[in-house]
Amino acid sequence: MGARRNPDVRRHRFGTALVYRLQPEPVETTAPDTPAPTPVSADKIKRFLHVLVEPRSYLNALYLLTAFPLALTYFLVLIVGAISGAFLSIVGIGLLVLLATLVAAWGFALFERELVIALLGVNVPPLSLPDPELVSPWRMLVRHLRQPATWRSLVYLLLKLPFGIFASLLSGALLGASVGGMIFTLVRLNTDGASGIPTLVFPGLFAFAGLALSLHVLNAVARAWGRFAGDMLGVGEEQRQVWEARRKAEVADRSRRELIMNVSHELRTPIASIQAHVDSLLLPEADRPDAAESERRLRVTAAETRRLADLIEDLLMLARADSDELKVSNRAIEVAPIVEQVILALAPLARAERHVTLTHEDLPPDLWAVGDADRLAQVLTNLVRNAINYTPEGGVVSVRLSAGGAGHVQIAVSDTGPGISADDLVHIFERFYRADTSRARDTGGFGLGLSIARELLEAMGGSLSATSQPGLGSTFWISLRRADH
Ligand code: ADP
Repeated sequence: MGARRNPDVRRHRFGTALVYRLQPEPVETTAPDTPAPTPVSADKIKRFLHVLVEPRSYLNALYLLTAFPLALTYFLVLIVGAISGAFLSIVGIGLLVLLATLVAAWGFALFERELVIALLGVNVPPLSLPDPELVSPWRMLVRHLRQPATWRSLVYLLLKLPFGIFASLLSGALLGASVGGMIFTLVRLNTDGASGIPTLVFPGLFAFAGLALSLHVLNAVARAWGRFAGDMLGVGEEQRQVWEARRKAEVADRSRRELIMNVSHELRTPIASIQAHVDSLLLPEADRPDAAESERRLRVTAAETRRLADLIEDLLMLARADSDELKVSNRAIEVAPIVEQVILALAPLARAERHVTLTHEDLPPDLWAVGDADRLAQVLTNLVRNAINYTPEGGVVSVRLSAGGAGHVQIAVSDTGPGISADDLVHIFERFYRADTSRARDTGGFGLGLSIARELLEAMGGSLSATSQPGLGSTFWISLRRADH
């Protein structure tokens, strides 16, 4: 299958009013090569033993081993604080002691949350949500006491004592037995030499398998406790959703404001130019420029209007992408015909308008990728047009297609233009970013093309990057997932 439509280079570079959704559709491609099936038992043994090389197993074990001493510390501090606070309230300083106990409980809860995240790898939501309002310490205390998370985390700290006893005993016994067995085997081998070889089977092999089994058991316990910790130590689901929605609204608001500022800025120059030209054509007949100059001004006006139409298309495209309505329909596509069509369409333009040669190296046939043929043609058209625009007369733009490593297909668009400085290179995929060279050359772009191209390629599961040697040229790299056909 090739590109089904010849990319119309006069059309706006990213196409028009169709509604696209950015979530990639299910990929219609054949299944990747599957490795030869391994015997079930070997596979099971491999999976059983894999626990021995997983760092997470040892982090879990560390959490369980240290659970008791930590839980005991929490328990003693909290109980001693609460009891002495209650007694001392008779002499008046009891409230302060209770307050200190509460602060300690909060500190322990924060520490526990970090520990659970780091050692058990559980994603625990924050204990409290940041509040933009500035309130007095007293109001803060009242809020803190009203928060369900405060009391849930306190219950968690107290419940950790029985769990800590169980967890530390269990992990100590299981790990102690298996590690002890292995040490015993090593010592016997060392002291008895060849006669100690039977110990390799017993207790050696048993201890080794025992260690794997122990780690499986401890992982299961750690997972269960991790889930419990996640529920007890984080803010409630509802509160989190409200906070997340507020955060998203703030980000959206900020980006909307930025967009309005950028768009207003971008509109100013073409509108001013159109206005000046049209005004000059509306002057009284005596002051009006001659026919040739009038025609030139009309042409400038027409070109500026086209640029504005392009800007609107780009903005619509971005708006759709932001609201997840930009759709790419991914399927297995053959890449060479698409590259060829884009080159065929743009080569005469490159020659006629900019005296630039557009070439391609042999396009390997039968190279299939996951993507959307029309979208890919449009992205490629944009990259090649950029390359043509930024290449001085007599320069060369070349397109290469190759099977990239690790199941990828790569398209490289290279030019012999001025290149892009390292400082600009890190920004060119940002919206509205234009390097100074482009402003000087007045290429007419608004700095949106590359950001849209990258969004489209990412929606195809691919990527877009650039390398450049200032003074020598730039190369833009499209990478797509390879599809079997
Ligand atoms: P524009 O529409 O302004 O070209 P793009 O998003 O396509 O916007 O490109 C962003 C910036 O990247 C350009 O303004 C230019 O500075 C730089 N750029 C893009 N392609 C090239 C190229 N082939 N050679 C040099 N600079 C380039």
